Amino acid sequence: MNASGKADGGNFDVVIAGNGVLGLSLAWILARRGQRVAVLGRPARPWAGSTASGAMLGCFGEVTTSLLASEHGRAKLELGIEAGRLWPQWLAELEEVTEGAPVKTARGTTVVLNTIGTAEIDDANYQAIRAELTRYEEPFEDVEPADLDWVDAEPISRPLRAFHIPGEHAVNSAALLERLEAAVVQAGGILVPEFATRVEYRGDRVTGVVLADGRRITAGHVTLAAGARTQELLDSLPVGPRIPRLVSGYGVSALIRTADGTAPDSVVRTPNRSFACGLHVVPRGDGQVYVGATNVISVDPRDTAEMRDLVFLLQCAHRQVRRNLWNSDVTKVQVGNRPVSMDGFPLLGDGGMRGLSVMTGTYRDGLHLSPLLAQDFAARALGEETRADVARFAPVRQPLRTGTREEIVDVLIDHQMGIGYEQDWTIPVEWHQWIEMDLRPGTLAWANGLDPEFTPPPELLFASRFDPELVSILRKYYATCREYS
Ligand SMILES: Cc1cc2nc3c(=O)[nH]c(=O)nc-3n(C[C@H](O)[C@H](O)[C@H](O)COP(=O)(O)OP(=O)(O)OC[C@H]3O[C@@H](n4cnc5c(N)ncnc54)[C@H](O)[C@@H]3O)c2cc1C
Repeated sequence: MNASGKADGGNFDVVIAGNGVLGLSLAWILARRGQRVAVLGRPARPWAGSTASGAMLGCFGEVTTSLLASEHGRAKLELGIEAGRLWPQWLAELEEVTEGAPVKTARGTTVVLNTIGTAEIDDANYQAIRAELTRYEEPFEDVEPADLDWVDAEPISRPLRAFHIPGEHAVNSAALLERLEAAVVQAGGILVPEFATRVEYRGDRVTGVVLADGRRITAGHVTLAAGARTQELLDSLPVGPRIPRLVSGYGVSALIRTADGTAPDSVVRTPNRSFACGLHVVPRGDGQVYVGATNVISVDPRDTAEMRDLVFLLQCAHRQVRRNLWNSDVTKVQVGNRPVSMDGFPLLGDGGMRGLSVMTGTYRDGLHLSPLLAQDFAARALGEETRADVARFAPVRQPLRTGTREEIVDVLIDHQMGIGYEQDWTIPVEWHQWIEMDLRPGTLAWANGLDPEFTPPPELLFASRFDPELVSILRKYYATCREYS
């Protein structure tokens, strides 16, 4: 090891491939527990999801009827609830040992039901969020749309109903990552500013990684937390094909300096819609707001924004939330990649080879889950009892199923039609019905032709219609599933 903190090869207890929020959070705990830990990743964090995220610490705000339709979705919600309990202490400790910009940026979350939403998605998800808040005895209060001070939507996009969740906040992801990095180094962890290109193994035991510059790092334990790019590392291992493949949920967000220097106190968001995490505005201090976010399934992670996604996002923000965003300054366009597995659920736990852990596939809420997952994975590496119930998300698995093919197609159609309404499409009145009438059987026939047995989650099925590479990846993956079943 040299003085600049660079590993020149070397031997570690744990090497973590990936310097996003998950890798750094885990490293912080392990380093504090006296482990020799190295975190790999380029400082600019290419393709990261963490840097582009809001970052809402929400699990109730993320509730959808589809999430609640399966036991796996319910289990995911419960992980989110548990993670939410850890954040106050996690942040307090982080802010105690590091200096920098405040991490927490929003007090609470206000969920808005507006006229743009559809009954099938927005009304249903709005009610589902409230029902789960009630079920878990989490406080919330109704807000009169007229009392939503900061909201000034176009009349045809105006809020109809709203409620406030005082316990769901948001953080500044840039400040969080900066402080986590400092905390890791302070605790004795080593940041290696390079990518891993493959994992090395002998028999069924992993022994370390090879870096992009050719150096080798050996370690007793290797944790893969490279977000959507984790797939490349899994491809270097014999166990790789048995783990649901990862694709990217590429998303665009933007930072905006508001024309009048104001920002809301809380997160202002719609329920999840259009295959994405709902339209949301998050205060970022000094008259800045974060506006997010789009979600498009892409085989390869992206690092630039497609014009249509950026235009869509910005239009939604000024039309549905605040009109004077229109003449505010866009200070940064952010592009990130959510790690999305072929069944849409996280890949968490032992990677099917001795010494290998996989910590990814967290999709829309990996940042919120980070303190919980970090504690869980640290306990694994240290041979201690784990606290999070993630067994069902073990990486080596058959795809988790959430419903029948028809149910998945129904959700897809609801969201696809919803995209049209959110984009303010103007077509003769009966055309909506005609389109939907043909879209449903057409999509079902597509799903039948894709695979006789498995159906991907709605957004992957949707994307597969336009992407032959995704079709071939899905088919290959399902063939492998049958081989190992
Ligand atoms: C627009 C957007 C908005 C979001 N909003 C929210 C939100 O409000 N709340 C929430 O909880 N979540 C949100 N998410 C999801 C969240 O960002 C992710 O679930 C989470 O950040 C994943 O963290 P990670 O550390 O696993 O991966 P990442 O953040 O993707 O980090 C992976 C890191 O690994 C590095 N890397 C890649 N390949 C290698 C390699 N071979 N070797 C070493 N390093 C490598 C990358 O450069 C990157 O820095 C959002 C995501 C997006 C894109």
